[in-house]
Amino acid sequence: MADLLGGKGANLAEMTRLGLPVPPGFTITTEACRSYLSTGREPATLREEIGDHLAALERRMGRRLGRGADPLLVSVRSGARFSMPGMMETVLDVGLSDTSVRALAGQAGDDRFAWDSYRRLIQMFGRTVLGIDGSHFDAELEAARREEGVEADASLPAVRLRALVEEFKRITRVHGGRDFPQDPREQLTLAVDAVFDSWNTDRARRYRRQEHIPDDLGTAVSVCAMVFGNLGPDSGTGVAFTRDPATGRTGVYGDYLRNAQGEDVVAGYRNTVPLAELERIDPGSHRRLTEIMATLERHYLDLCDIEFTIERGTLWMLQTRVGKRTAAAAFRIAADLAEQEVIDDDEALRRVDGSQLAQLMFPHFDPAHRGEPVARGVPASPGAAVGAAVFDSARAAARAARGERVVLVRRETNPDDLDGMLAAEGVLTSRGGKTSHAAVVARGMGRTCVCGAEGIVVDADARRATVPGGGVIEEGDVLSVDGTDGSVHLGEVPVVPSTVVEYFENGGTPTGADPTTGEDPDDGRDDALVRAVDRLMRHADRRRVLGVRANADTGRDARRAARFGAAGVGLCRTEHMFLGERRRLVERLVLAVTDREREEVLAELLPLQRADFTELLAAMDGMPVTVRLLDPPLHEFLPDITELSVRVARAGDEGDDSRDHRLLRAVRRLHEQNPMLGLRGVRLGLVVPGLFAMQVRAVAEAAADRRAAGGDPRPEIMVPLVAAARELEIVREEAERVLAEVAARRGSVPTVPVGTMIELPRAALTAGEIAGAADFFSFGTNDLTQTVWGFSRDDVEGSFFAGYLERGVFPVSPFETIDAAGVGTLVRTAARTGRATSPDLGLGVCGEHGGDPASVRFFHEAGLDYVSCSPFRVPVARLEAGRAAV
Ligand code: PEP
Ligand code: MG
Repeated sequence: MADLLGGKGANLAEMTRLGLPVPPGFTITTEACRSYLSTGREPATLREEIGDHLAALERRMGRRLGRGADPLLVSVRSGARFSMPGMMETVLDVGLSDTSVRALAGQAGDDRFAWDSYRRLIQMFGRTVLGIDGSHFDAELEAARREEGVEADASLPAVRLRALVEEFKRITRVHGGRDFPQDPREQLTLAVDAVFDSWNTDRARRYRRQEHIPDDLGTAVSVCAMVFGNLGPDSGTGVAFTRDPATGRTGVYGDYLRNAQGEDVVAGYRNTVPLAELERIDPGSHRRLTEIMATLERHYLDLCDIEFTIERGTLWMLQTRVGKRTAAAAFRIAADLAEQEVIDDDEALRRVDGSQLAQLMFPHFDPAHRGEPVARGVPASPGAAVGAAVFDSARAAARAARGERVVLVRRETNPDDLDGMLAAEGVLTSRGGKTSHAAVVARGMGRTCVCGAEGIVVDADARRATVPGGGVIEEGDVLSVDGTDGSVHLGEVPVVPSTVVEYFENGGTPTGADPTTGEDPDDGRDDALVRAVDRLMRHADRRRVLGVRANADTGRDARRAARFGAAGVGLCRTEHMFLGERRRLVERLVLAVTDREREEVLAELLPLQRADFTELLAAMDGMPVTVRLLDPPLHEFLPDITELSVRVARAGDEGDDSRDHRLLRAVRRLHEQNPMLGLRGVRLGLVVPGLFAMQVRAVAEAAADRRAAGGDPRPEIMVPLVAAARELEIVREEAERVLAEVAARRGSVPTVPVGTMIELPRAALTAGEIAGAADFFSFGTNDLTQTVWGFSRDDVEGSFFAGYLERGVFPVSPFETIDAAGVGTLVRTAARTGRATSPDLGLGVCGEHGGDPASVRFFHEAGLDYVSCSPFRVPVARLEAGRAAV
């Protein structure tokens, strides 16, 4: 019931059902929150319902909220459908007041604990409910520690804490505009509303945007009886994982903090001890915890993360969820569980995704070139980050906005650092463990992170840090941060490709264990990860119905694409073959006045194009190679109009018929206000006689040459930017004439399908007619998105898109993920009407969306035959196509 109870509430209920030790309580639903957020008021019956459930809780505990000799205290915690770590609010110790604090002290036999809890409540309440700037409280706390000469809050004596309570109440009055409420029910009501409100804070909204979590879900609120980890050395609180969330290795893993409460562990203010230490400190609780973790894994069939508290030797589970993990851990855990037959391979495939695979294909540091690190921390989120050290988030965001690569260096991070973390290549902190805020958030967004690098002393105000041995890092100094092994290096360390890329480069053969020892070689490669990727890729290939081709214009790209698993070339952009030296030839083509001149140039271009296609057909022997006829506006091949005008002006009148003069005239003649909507694609083919025919001839002759050499060439001809059936018919007639001519001359030429791109709205709307002249369609979703939205694909991303994303016009750029409602509808329509005319019509897509994980699913559902994408994204598309099919 996570939709209604939020992840936390649902899992608390689930753990209770499993008979695990969960403090009793109840959960207020997301429905109540949504109603509150839309009307600005609590739903009419909420207060009464809370009253009923609280009464039940009080009866069960035999104690009353904030009253009597043994007062009940509760925690009020947020919990949305999707985990948003640290983004929303929590208030602990609700129920404490000037009276109940004394009762609590009596019950616990510990004055210090009672006053510490009370000051925590006022502090959290002040910040969360009354919106008081937390620094007012922090400054007082810091002064108290200084005056008492102690390092930790836990060492402050009771009298001092009591004085702090008075001080905090004063801060509440002055900065919160009211007295701290003494009525426990009022505290509870206000705390619940504050948790509702925290759904809409800026940082929560930003986080949702980043994670593509819808804005209208709302949060649930769990109200539970408090248990205390700060009751002395036999108490404590911790976070644990049933497997290593960084690598996916088996074995429990976690951090524990003695005599501490709530956020102390994740906040990273105090250094934790590893879970193994708990075995020594409290073997009973450790054993119980380990058993519970095994139960949870068996129940959820996945890695779980857990928050727990030990109150005077008694273990309590505060929350669990299927835990966040790095991309590497996701693959490893899914494959391990499938190997152990805990889940099947279909389920394993559902548990990884294309973006994670893309992350694994990132490069890492070259071990040969990195020397000794200046510091080491906890490897919290893998990757190799290089950038200028920056010590605060606003400056990090500003420098990154200027195009600089930065590494955010902080003592610890908190939710206000989100912008800086988003902007940075990597994050480095000097405090906190794998479960600190920095670690959790960085992992979630795929940022490299090293945390708890204790040797580093960060002085954010002075914008510098010192490293062990006395070295100094000033703002702007370049750092290399290795999130895979936790090392930090001064200067730029060269990076090398990932082991996973190497695996794909090997054509998908996993590197493996030493045949004699059965062990993986210690060569820095993560062989276990590669085996996991291999297992899931094979399964994806077995399951997928969608073919995957590559967009490739050179033999080199095509060969790599084939190694990466592409089943052909879905788009060869021939304009890329007209650059460099050949630009001159095109220039001559444009300047040609007579037929003879033009034919001469085309004759020179023919053998060059033939060689291009021969190489491509050889690289993809036995597989389709879709050659797209020339697409871009011709003026793109001519010199810049301003430069040329200056040159001509400098040369004066002499030789009015000079090359530059003629060029300038041509450039002026061809100049268009809106070249993307101008003379390009099929229009060019109709305007420049012989151009398309030359390209078709080159394809046919290349195929004949390949056949003669014993190859199995399978070229296809594709016509760009078609809007009307007649355009395609004209080109097709010409192409067929040329193909027949070459076949007659060379004998052995394969049948060459002729198809069209569908990249204009009119083409999509009249696809039924166009299909009459096409053997296949390939959706050019780049131009189709451009023309359906009326967005210039070359301009918008750097212009108003940021604002559009911010204001929720779309959750992600339509150039990145297919706009299913708009552009997608045209794709579906064209596919349907095209196939109605011609049931055998081939259907593919070759816009950038072909390699985008979310879009691949859409194309699968739309019934296309294949997607075509850049070689590097071929594995991602294969995986996603498999996922779409299970
Ligand atoms: C497209 O428009 O989607 C396409 C593949 O063609 P190009 O990107 O070359 O315009
Ligand atoms: Mg296009």
